[in-house]
Amino acid sequence: MREDVQVLFKNRRPGETLFLDGYRAAGGYQALKKALTRMTPEEVVEEVKAAGLRGRGGSGFPTGQKWSFIPRGKPGIKYLVCNGDEMEPGTYKDRQLLLADPHQLIEGLLIAAYALQTEVAYIFLRYAYEDCARRVERALAEARQAGFLGDNILGSGFSCEVRLHRSAGRYILGEETALLNGLEGRRPNPRAKPPFPVNEGLFGRPTVINNVETLANVPHIIGGGAAWYRGLALTEDGAGTKIVGLSGHLEKTRCVELPLGVPLGEIIEHHGGGVWRGRRFKACLPGGASTAFLTREHLSVPMDFDALTAARSRLGTACITVFDDRTCMLAATLNLTRFFARESCGWCTPCRDGLAMVVWLLEKIEGGTANQDDIHMLQDQARNISGQTMTGAMSGPMRKDYVFKVGARAFCPLADGAMAPVEALLRLFRDEVEEHVKKGRCPF
Ligand code: SF4
Repeated sequence: MREDVQVLFKNRRPGETLFLDGYRAAGGYQALKKALTRMTPEEVVEEVKAAGLRGRGGSGFPTGQKWSFIPRGKPGIKYLVCNGDEMEPGTYKDRQLLLADPHQLIEGLLIAAYALQTEVAYIFLRYAYEDCARRVERALAEARQAGFLGDNILGSGFSCEVRLHRSAGRYILGEETALLNGLEGRRPNPRAKPPFPVNEGLFGRPTVINNVETLANVPHIIGGGAAWYRGLALTEDGAGTKIVGLSGHLEKTRCVELPLGVPLGEIIEHHGGGVWRGRRFKACLPGGASTAFLTREHLSVPMDFDALTAARSRLGTACITVFDDRTCMLAATLNLTRFFARESCGWCTPCRDGLAMVVWLLEKIEGGTANQDDIHMLQDQARNISGQTMTGAMSGPMRKDYVFKVGARAFCPLADGAMAPVEALLRLFRDEVEEHVKKGRCPF
């Protein structure tokens, strides 16, 4: 079952939250102590780099590399922001981490702040996560009281304040530059890049933004070492474990921690209990609503960044939504696209108007009033809206498309992500789409 390696969830107990006493008894804050007393900030960055930790919020960018971009020696304040604005449909992993073990995030945040030499950090939390906010507030107060937070932490000379900020509650706030605008009290439109936040971020100052799960990994890397962390993954290029969320047509919907690289089918069968009501597997979204569908032929693909990219999808948030054989994939795609269209910030035309057009076309096909031209128009829209925000290839170990193109038609990845299921629908379930038109109704 491969649940024997529990790193981030090692302190998780059903219905319980571990606060300071329990966290310390389980070895908590030892990694912070080690970093502050036995390592230089640069050594912490190098350890995280060597561990191969990649962003767990969906982008997969190497964390240590991102940290190394922050300008060192530049006078003035720098910021660290934890992105806890988890609002992707089907994704609920950060919530599980915060409910179970809020000090784990705070320790990771403080080690990262030390590595970056930032003295102010923010936790930007989804507005609806009231229960998480209460736990984080209590944990921050406990950490401050115990000397892990605030001035001269553990007598090391390093000081850091952590502030909790409640999001205003829109999906686009999870995009890192929209998040920064929101944190500054502005309208949360994404910003043009460059300048990248590591150079000009919050209030124009160098800023690093990391996801909750990413930061929660940091104490374990410092405590256990880069080699141990890398060795946790089952794939050669992978590193560490991943919180996998299971939802949809499964017998068991839950969050589990697994080594990176467990095959998709094994996760669905063993950890999700298989497809519900004795039905057959038809498709899944492997990493949240903004990833492309995968089908039966992909069940042996390892849940890891590169393997899923090779299968024309993405690891994303690793929260898997399963669809059984009675699902109309067109209706499922329509449901997702309605969400993205509603959450578009309206800044650029392909996203604001294009997504509304895609919803209209999908509704027409699902409602049985469409013709072949509508399918062609849908294909056209999908082609024109997607692929516009990501471009080029980075050199070195990344080999992936993570550089934002300035002057592209859509400004941020929301439009691209919205088109991932639509593009996969037309590629993998074209027959079903055609059948709607031929029959003049939904065949399901
Ligand atoms: S792609 Fe959509 S969400 Fe992103 S900036 Fe443009 S309109 Fe806003």
